[in-house]
Amino acid sequence: MALIVQKYGGTSVGTPERIKNVAQRVAKFKMLGHQVVVVLSAMSGETNRLIALAKEVQPNPDLREMDVLLSTGEQVTIALLSMALMELGLKARSYTGSQVKIVTDNAHTKARILDIEEGNIRADLDAGYVVVVAGFQGVDEKGSITTLGRGGSDTTGVALAAALKADECQIYTDVDGVYTTDPRVVPEARRLKTITFEEMLEMASLGSKVLQIRSVEFAGKYKVKLRVLSSFDDEGEGTLITFEEEDNMEQAIISGIAFNRDEAKITVLGVPDRPGIAYQILGPIGEANIDVDIILQNVGADGTTDFTFTVHRNEYKKALEVLKGVQAHIGAREVSGDDHIAKVSVIGVGMRSHAGIASTMFRTLAEEGINIQMISTSEIKISVVIDEKYMELAVRVLHKAFNLEQAA
Ligand code: ADP
Ligand code: ASP
Ligand code: MG
Repeated sequence: MALIVQKYGGTSVGTPERIKNVAQRVAKFKMLGHQVVVVLSAMSGETNRLIALAKEVQPNPDLREMDVLLSTGEQVTIALLSMALMELGLKARSYTGSQVKIVTDNAHTKARILDIEEGNIRADLDAGYVVVVAGFQGVDEKGSITTLGRGGSDTTGVALAAALKADECQIYTDVDGVYTTDPRVVPEARRLKTITFEEMLEMASLGSKVLQIRSVEFAGKYKVKLRVLSSFDDEGEGTLITFEEEDNMEQAIISGIAFNRDEAKITVLGVPDRPGIAYQILGPIGEANIDVDIILQNVGADGTTDFTFTVHRNEYKKALEVLKGVQAHIGAREVSGDDHIAKVSVIGVGMRSHAGIASTMFRTLAEEGINIQMISTSEIKISVVIDEKYMELAVRVLHKAFNLEQAA
């Protein structure tokens, strides 16, 4: 007998029919003698609908009330699945985040899980129940409902698996695993049988929405056995997230390509090239609580420098305002920006032992006439910032250049 946590995403619970299908799958595992905890998302589109509703009433919604609103989506699906399980003759009981007690900090709309009281769940499992938990939500120490950020049900699933020391956490979604890149953009993308935690972390943080980044962090930290699978086909083995130490003979040099349109670029032109200038520019940005991603500094012949960095697109206007406010003080000639950029990244642990990845990447983009605006690297990834309109083309040609459509 194993203890399995299964998380189903929005598309997988998008209609009553699909909820009944989920119940069938859960029943199959239960019949095999396993204990099953199910974590659910809201029906697909529901969270977006709720956000739009809020903005109609309050353009800049109060974050505490936003969380009260957003958490309702998952409350609907857990009740419906519990009913569907009962219709199949199983014992089932649903819990919201605050009923379980998934304790989080109070950062509304992007809260972090601090603790999970797993006593009730364990007692129910021992009494033969399927336990159905609302993903994406928790409660802070004052009793206010919180949510974990978009895609947060993945994190609820993995955090519960860690707290319960589950044998496996299965993430059921609308693709049958983690692919070399988003199969919606590159139809030739190939499912990976395994991917290392390190690579999955990079993929998630660089834009692959198949797993929320915090869920991968949790899985790595607590050594949760994590698998991504399709909720629509019964056969596949999906993708297992592994540790690099496990000798992996089929390891390719590049595992995948990630991309995102979530960033914007800001350039401060003509600042004096002297000590402290990076601090004078990024200090006020940090004080405004704006995270910076890629940074680039160029020194001109006339003793001035141009300083460019990227921020999340949601914070672009705020960052520009902050800098316009300090422009005179810094002595900058101009502050400009561009929010039509995209970041494309190639990822692979094999990069550590292979040279030439960057040159292949840059040559491939050059052959398509795609200009690289910024570059950032780590041991296992290379990211470039390019014009947003070339993003899909860049992903497709890089996927081909690194032979990702062929099995390693
Ligand atoms: P869910 O609602 O089940 O949580 P998501 O939409 O959050 O599903 O995540 C699944 C989607 O992630 C897929 O439909 C796919 O378009 C996208 N995706 C992006 N990158 C990848 C990738 N490398 N492998 C698989 N899917 C990816
Ligand atoms: N329903 C939430 C969202 O759309 C959480 C999730 O689906 O993981 O972001
Ligand atoms: Mg998701």
